[in-house]
Amino acid sequence: MRAGVVVIGGGVMGTSIACHLARAGVRDVVLVERDELASGSTSKAAGGVRAQFSDELNIQLGARSLEAFARYEEDTGYDIGLHRVGYLFLLSTPEDVASFEAGVRLQNSLGVPSRLIDPAAARRLSPLISTDGLLAAAFSPDDGHCTPEAVVHGYAAAARRHGATIWRHCELTGIELHGDDITAVMTSRGRIATDTVICAAGAWSRAVGAMAGVDLPVEPLRRQIAVTEPVDGLPPDLPMTIDFTTSLYFHTEGPGLLVGMSDPEERPGFATDTHDRWIPRLGAAMEQRAPALLDLRRTGGWAGLYELTPDHNALIGEATSVSRFLYATGFSGHGFLQGPAVGEVVRDLYLGRVPFVDVSPLSVGRFAADALRPEANRV
Ligand SMILES: Cc1cc2nc3c(=O)[nH]c(=O)nc-3n(C[C@H](O)[C@H](O)[C@H](O)COP(=O)(O)OP(=O)(O)OC[C@H]3O[C@@H](n4cnc5c(N)ncnc54)[C@H](O)[C@@H]3O)c2cc1C
Repeated sequence: MRAGVVVIGGGVMGTSIACHLARAGVRDVVLVERDELASGSTSKAAGGVRAQFSDELNIQLGARSLEAFARYEEDTGYDIGLHRVGYLFLLSTPEDVASFEAGVRLQNSLGVPSRLIDPAAARRLSPLISTDGLLAAAFSPDDGHCTPEAVVHGYAAAARRHGATIWRHCELTGIELHGDDITAVMTSRGRIATDTVICAAGAWSRAVGAMAGVDLPVEPLRRQIAVTEPVDGLPPDLPMTIDFTTSLYFHTEGPGLLVGMSDPEERPGFATDTHDRWIPRLGAAMEQRAPALLDLRRTGGWAGLYELTPDHNALIGEATSVSRFLYATGFSGHGFLQGPAVGEVVRDLYLGRVPFVDVSPLSVGRFAADALRPEANRV
């Protein structure tokens, strides 16, 4: 078997990259996924899509992806359940208000229609919240949420239509090098001769990078989500609501709510079983910011992995020590929403074209160069 390029990972990144490459006419694109498509972090995501970030690059990648999500059904024929209900960040400290004011200014300068609103206006948008202690909120109506698995399957189908090969249940086990050049990948289904590997292996990217001698500092961290029973009278346009102080967030999920929160006691690791140790903290956050949620019965939930980097921002670029090893990973909790734009960018990096935004500050070399790029607006 021979491939022009082998993409590792069948989540939103891998399938978006494969789709963008195949659509651009790249021949012999092969994607390998060791499990089912979308079985990694992508299917565990809350589905939030937004351009409200502090980092200019993330604003641009988010806004570009929002445009692609809006045209997704037309482009691929797949309904991704897009709800453009906005993201509402609830702010309770003067420092957070000041930092979101700066963020809104930057977002507006890049065409994103975010704005600061007062607590009463926030409650009109998201009636389940309490405004006690709230100073302000940041709202951007273009943001929202959609269904991650549908996005992956849409990209995979479009990639196949344009000639890409997708192998599920096929694990990358090694990368063969001749000097500094990649010559093949080894997989559970045999050797594939190729000169290019693109790592989109999410939380498992460090092991993939190591196969080519490339250090990708990505650490897995479990995050949990709870789903509630149906809630009467939910406004159909309830925004994705985030209490920035506690990190409690919720949005509609069918007739109920999807609720999540970070757990400061969680330690890095690949475990994805659920546990109830986060529930008391979740309850305390609800009591403070959205007491109405306390009355709701939990009907389900799941756990998945964030793929964290040291500065909580993505790794996108091409290795300099090996030819050719490209990577798009380490999205630190906001990778689903960047899938469309990053697929486009990686296609251009592969083809030697100038991408719509210069992602070189996100290359892995930033850690050695002490040029960290922290994203402040994270959940
Ligand atoms: C609870 C939770 C909520 C989240 N909410 C949001 C949100 O609201 N918005 C947002 O933008 N992001 C969110 N995220 C983050 C988002 O899910 C990830 O950033 C994104 O899905 C990463 O996509 P990916 O394609 O890079 O990785 P993945 O979806 O993890 O795909 C990587 C794939 O690589 C495969 N793989 C790994 N190693 C190998 C190998 N050796 N051989 C073959 N295949 C391999 C894996 O099986 C996996 O399927 C959330 C994450 C979690 C856990």
